[in-house]
Amino acid sequence: MSVVDLAERLIGCESVTPARGPVFDALQAVLESAGFEVHRFVAGDPPEGPVENLFAIRRGAPGSKHFAFAGHVDVVPPGGGWTSPPFAAERRSEPGGDLLYGRGAVDMKGAVAAMVAAVETVPGEAGTISFVITGDEEGPAVHGTRALISLMRERGEIPDLCLVGEPTSVDRLGDMMKIGRRGSVNIFLEVEGTQGHVAYPHLADNPIPRLVAMLAELDALVLDEGTDWFQPSNLEITDLEVGNPAHNVIPERAKARISIRFNDLHSGASLSERVGEIAMRHGGTALPIVSGEPFLTPPGAFSTIVADAVEAETGIRPEASTSGGTSDARFLKELCPVIEFGLVNATMHKADEAVAVEDLKTLTRIYRRIALAALTGAQA
Ligand SMILES: [Zn+2]
Repeated sequence: MSVVDLAERLIGCESVTPARGPVFDALQAVLESAGFEVHRFVAGDPPEGPVENLFAIRRGAPGSKHFAFAGHVDVVPPGGGWTSPPFAAERRSEPGGDLLYGRGAVDMKGAVAAMVAAVETVPGEAGTISFVITGDEEGPAVHGTRALISLMRERGEIPDLCLVGEPTSVDRLGDMMKIGRRGSVNIFLEVEGTQGHVAYPHLADNPIPRLVAMLAELDALVLDEGTDWFQPSNLEITDLEVGNPAHNVIPERAKARISIRFNDLHSGASLSERVGEIAMRHGGTALPIVSGEPFLTPPGAFSTIVADAVEAETGIRPEASTSGGTSDARFLKELCPVIEFGLVNATMHKADEAVAVEDLKTLTRIYRRIALAALTGAQA
């Protein structure tokens, strides 16, 4: 099936996160006709679930290399302001070339369609190819890729390399790939005092000065100076809450929240411990929620494969970046080296999300080159 036909078919299946059912039926049908063995399973309970996932594999000769494509078929809610129905792909001719409109066109049904169309033309004897597709990337991501990784471990089907098709290009297809992502931790801070009358402060204990001192110390932290591949880790104060409606009352409690995006010099646990110590010194508590550890696939054989493929089809060499938010690569890195490369991300999560039809075709050829080089090429 052509990449455009498949992208249209996937967009036509409404799949606001967590996705289930028809969008997976469509994917399963085309993967099976391309010779893949398809495993689908539903994981989790409300409110994060149930979530559907799909693992598909086409085995090469015993001992051959295993290359995995990873992605998601869930999408964010369409929101308002669309000029065509978000779940009916619409192809429009525009001055710069045809565009395909629909929720998920860029993030990332278009890329999933390109992966499938790419492997349809990769000969089976080239090696083992698999698809790791979740219906829960845009949501809590609790029962998605992590559950797929468990399944792959149980089955002993561990890829040698994995490409995630998130939209990494910025201004034009091919200008950026991600070789890493920062980790993320949110920490809830709280200081408890004793409520009382502002005119009798000796009978009360105001928690606000202690929280303010704690935040000042946290805000002044220099976590690191950055690395060759990562910008410096950053701590932001994201909320401050006392909620005291009275002018003559010392409140009993003050709360704040910080968010740290960190590079591979830290872990969620090391930062949580450090913040916890500071909070304690100011008589407060810190409750961390780590939403992702950083990952890095240092430039080497795999990034060269991706960059060569991109350059061969677009004429430009992608910048190797570690910018942006977290992605499911934070989990997949447990299995093997991971790199992300995909479409231009300008319209992702927006109204009138759209992909250039020409980009879909070019991406398909890039993915084909990457798969072939990963399976037959040098050790990565
Ligand atoms: Zn995405």
